[in-house]
Amino acid sequence: MEGFWTGFCIKSIIDDIIFYFTGDTHKKSSAIKVNSENLLVNGELHFLCNFKAWRNLFTCSKNCINILQHLAHAHGATKDDIDADTAEEIFEQLILKSNNWPIRIQRCMLQKERVCLFLNREDIIASSIKMAVECKMTLGKIKSTGKIFILKYQHDAQSALTTQRLHLIRNVTAKALNLHGHIVLSTGENCTNKYIFTSKSEGLIDEGYKKYVCGIVKNSQTNSKETCFTWEQYIKYKMNQLAELSEHKFIENEKNNAKDFFLHNLANAVIIFELMTVKPSRSVIIGNNNVEDDRNITNTRGASFVLYNTARIAAIIAKYNEKVSRGEYPSLPDIKNVDFSQLQEEEEWELIFNFVFGYSQMINDCLKCEPNFYIYPQVVCLFLLRLCQKFSVYYRKVRILTEGGDHLIPKMVARLYMLHALQVVFENALDILGIKPMMRM
Ligand SMILES: [Zn+2]
Repeated sequence: MEGFWTGFCIKSIIDDIIFYFTGDTHKKSSAIKVNSENLLVNGELHFLCNFKAWRNLFTCSKNCINILQHLAHAHGATKDDIDADTAEEIFEQLILKSNNWPIRIQRCMLQKERVCLFLNREDIIASSIKMAVECKMTLGKIKSTGKIFILKYQHDAQSALTTQRLHLIRNVTAKALNLHGHIVLSTGENCTNKYIFTSKSEGLIDEGYKKYVCGIVKNSQTNSKETCFTWEQYIKYKMNQLAELSEHKFIENEKNNAKDFFLHNLANAVIIFELMTVKPSRSVIIGNNNVEDDRNITNTRGASFVLYNTARIAAIIAKYNEKVSRGEYPSLPDIKNVDFSQLQEEEEWELIFNFVFGYSQMINDCLKCEPNFYIYPQVVCLFLLRLCQKFSVYYRKVRILTEGGDHLIPKMVARLYMLHALQVVFENALDILGIKPMMRM
């Protein structure tokens, strides 16, 4: 399974278009942009017509100022001006050419200074859901490169939370490297890719290692390095804070040990988000005894919000399974027999395009190995928060488990498969951060 889906991503469509325009497979360009909002109006991709945006791909002896004008004369047109017909002809050719690609272009539209490209939704919806359901925990994993990395972190003698942050960054990096097809070891010789995560830009480190300098954890009250908490104390502190928040009334009926277990997991997730949503090179400021601290609240709600949505999905699936066991619903048919054209809501398309189909792009964006080595854990956190925002809107609007009428079953089945795909996305993204999803909250 690994690597099978490698070509099924937004990057491969962009590469196909660039190749079609330039005839060169090695061209890299950022001229074609991916949209994430208002896809119905703006399409999934767009590019600027201004020739400047394309300068690194084309040279023109006729001083074209518009890429469509240039493509027209590069393909043999004699007119100097670009009119609507010429644009239409270029679009038609592109759409025709895309019929041989894994993802087809459905429509192109000139909007003032830019061209909007609308992708074939059916191509993407069915395959994305299938990809997630089949890949499970290998979603987004690229086939092996054989390249070895060795990662360590250096203890910060004064600050347990800073040490913990370095440890977390090390672990997220290991996960991301694995997904990029590399091998990660803790020790070893004869390896050129050795990194040590440290809070100190000066001082000696083990031979052969390159320093990856990360920011410290600061206390908001002293505005200097946090030196009081141990990891367990900070978890306890967060647990108390979470227990005070009225949002978690729903757990009050639980027995005490179940409640503690729940709060412990939640506190762990909240702290991981707190330490990982900030770019590694920057310091993280944590609050102390201040539930009122705005940013602190945002962080707390951030991780809770994500876990709350994983629990929502799990609850719908559990309820469905329960009804299947009572004979009230048919069991899910094989994915091959599902009619995914039932997914017609715009929110469904935005969820699938951005977060299921777009998952591999997020994996790509959370780590850079060349020319310099960078890890971006904050990309994973933001991806999860954006996913939850979209999913919440959808959840409020659409009732997934329908009641009454066999004619509604195909739509429900397609939606349940979409939920499964989203569940896989959540599990994988949370796993990069070292967080387990919650089955109920
Ligand atoms: Zn030209």
